[in-house]
Amino acid sequence: MTAVDRARLAELTAREAAALVALHPRCAALADEARAHLAYGVPMSWMAKWPGPFPISMASAAGAHLTCADGIELVDLCLGDTGAMCGHSPAPTVAAITEQASRGITAMLPTPDAAAVAAELTARFGAGPSRVARWQLTLTATDANRHVLRLARHLTGRPKVVVMDHCYHGTVDEAYATLGPDGAVVERRGSIGAPVDPALTTLVVPFNDVAAMAAALATGEVAAVLTEPALTNVGIVLPEPGYLDAVRALTRAAGAWFVIDETHTLCAGPGGCTAAWGLDPDVVVVGKTIGGGVPIAAFGLIPELAAQVERTITADGEDIDVGGVGGTLAGNALSSAAARATLTQVLTPAAFTSMTTLADRWADGVQGVIDAYQLGWHVVRLGARAEYAFGAEPPRDGAQSAAEDDFPLQQYLHLQALTHGVLLTPFHNMALMCPATTAADVDRHTTAFAAAAADLTAGADA
Ligand code: PMP
Repeated sequence: MTAVDRARLAELTAREAAALVALHPRCAALADEARAHLAYGVPMSWMAKWPGPFPISMASAAGAHLTCADGIELVDLCLGDTGAMCGHSPAPTVAAITEQASRGITAMLPTPDAAAVAAELTARFGAGPSRVARWQLTLTATDANRHVLRLARHLTGRPKVVVMDHCYHGTVDEAYATLGPDGAVVERRGSIGAPVDPALTTLVVPFNDVAAMAAALATGEVAAVLTEPALTNVGIVLPEPGYLDAVRALTRAAGAWFVIDETHTLCAGPGGCTAAWGLDPDVVVVGKTIGGGVPIAAFGLIPELAAQVERTITADGEDIDVGGVGGTLAGNALSSAAARATLTQVLTPAAFTSMTTLADRWADGVQGVIDAYQLGWHVVRLGARAEYAFGAEPPRDGAQSAAEDDFPLQQYLHLQALTHGVLLTPFHNMALMCPATTAADVDRHTTAFAAAAADLTAGADA
């Protein structure tokens, strides 16, 4: 990685923060007012991670653009960190929500839309070798992951879960574990108030390490392996050829569930990596964008596991509402209507084709700037998502990827993009395309990124 002069970086960051303040006085005032009522001035603590002295306040959003309270229209490459990968307020989703909202929002009863959503998910994720075919709906991907882990422990009678080092699966206690310097399982950095030592619940392995996975499964303690097919939350880390097939074979031999979390990797195509790469999981989890922004997520089981759940858990109706798998608003009418419209009319195969083409354009543009300014960074692509990272080569596992990160540099680049009219996720250097994204949107980021590269390297030459 090219060394970035820290004094120069601090100076540039201060300059961009001042530009943000000058451009967004109304957003600043709203942020100030919010502090009187919201803890930290934001509705959820992680929103404090937006770069700069305050997060901008959204006035409206449509398609690939978002307008802030100061009336500035931004190209949105964050897209709600995938929640809005379908674009903001897509017309078919809005129509379905509007229709449903006047006919009942939640009733603890199924509507026909729920089964239609499940059928659509099976068509997408149950194709090829994958036999995932029986779905449950939740409100968030976090809930879906939590429920799957409970079911896996219950049915296998085993206590532990295997996760990848530096994974993220939502606020799932078992996944707040990482490998310490001596290889022991420890709480991940930043973990807040863990209920128990994660070493009691979790085994952690590096991504792409078949031997480590085999050793973890050999303990006989593992109920499930929970993984993204490509890590997306510590930068993008792609699987090496054969890795996921090896995990499939090892989990099958060990009698552990192979759970693929496609919440982000749905960007790879209509059926996520599962369909795109011909994977064969026992369970698929998907969430975020499938409801067009309305809260909904889902987990799908292969028929044998669904039958086991039915036999051993749901058959005895008495405790089914208090067993730890639930959510009063899960499967509600509004979410189901939103997901049906979003999946069938917005996130279509044709949409994925154009999104992927634009992600490639973004990646080519950014890589061109990296090369021109000899930054020594790289870009990784995954369908409609692409990301730059500060190492020279794509990392092989989460620890390598984490080691390449540079938070102050990331914050500067995101702040600079914002003052140049482009919104990037505050979590990493990712750009996401939606069906409404255009080549001009992509190029706007490339231009801004080139200006940042020029500024950063001008400091190095001085
Ligand atoms: N799984 C993955 C892979 C995620 O990246 C996330 C959130 N970033 C989640 C699950 C949890 O999603 P939510 O916060 O919507 O519950």
